[in-house]
Amino acid sequence: MSNFKWKKILLKISGESLMGSDDFGINPIIVNSFASEISEVVKSGIHLCIVVGGGNIYRGVSNIQNGMDRTTGDYMGMLATVMNSLAIQNSLEKIGIQTRVQSALPISAVCEPYIRRRAIRHMEKGRVVIFAAGTGNPYFTTDTAAALRASEMNCEVIIKATLVDGVYSADPKKDKNAFKYNNMSYLDVLSKDLKVMDASAISLARENKIPIVVCSIVKNQNLSKVLSGKGSYTIISD
Ligand code: UDP
Repeated sequence: MSNFKWKKILLKISGESLMGSDDFGINPIIVNSFASEISEVVKSGIHLCIVVGGGNIYRGVSNIQNGMDRTTGDYMGMLATVMNSLAIQNSLEKIGIQTRVQSALPISAVCEPYIRRRAIRHMEKGRVVIFAAGTGNPYFTTDTAAALRASEMNCEVIIKATLVDGVYSADPKKDKNAFKYNNMSYLDVLSKDLKVMDASAISLARENKIPIVVCSIVKNQNLSKVLSGKGSYTIISD
């Protein structure tokens, strides 16, 4: 624990990263490997909460062309994040980590509703709180939900887990000259339009002075390394 730079963290897991090499849905091997990475840091005393995306199942904007209302699509996207949250909860509890799922859209038969003070209490007791259904509002993303919950929970950092190990100048798979940034300012990310997180998420993190660390947790033990200031990542701060 003493090696870790941050003691209270919000981990944002994109829906896409839960697919692994599949085209769609939840890959149980990937979810289990994320759970074991998470359990390593939780067992060393880190207070951790999670916001999960839903893009592996449904994205609101993707069906507008087919006649779907944006708001209906967005609610479907939020429900997709509830499924992902339950999958992560299941994997974590199987390896002995206590969790609670709190949904911004009340679904009382499967999880708790989002109640800030209750979530804080869970975290104080060492439970991993998984925030589902994003912000509960259409026209937002789970990145913004991550910045919002991190601010509400007084987290010291947002760890954005992606499929790549940081922010690159271009897509490293397509451009051989692409290089990785080690440090960036919030304004750099906004002005270069790097699509790391949407602008409202970056602005909210900036306003509340919460650094964002972009890294991959697919690689073995990378989360522990990143939290110790080692491993491969990009840090966005002032
Ligand atoms: N969504 C929403 N409001 C929110 C969070 C998410 O409407 O506060 C919907 C939106 O349709 C989005 C989908 O849920 O496309 C899945 O979330 P996101 O795209 O952020 O997931 P990720 O890219 O992390 O997999």
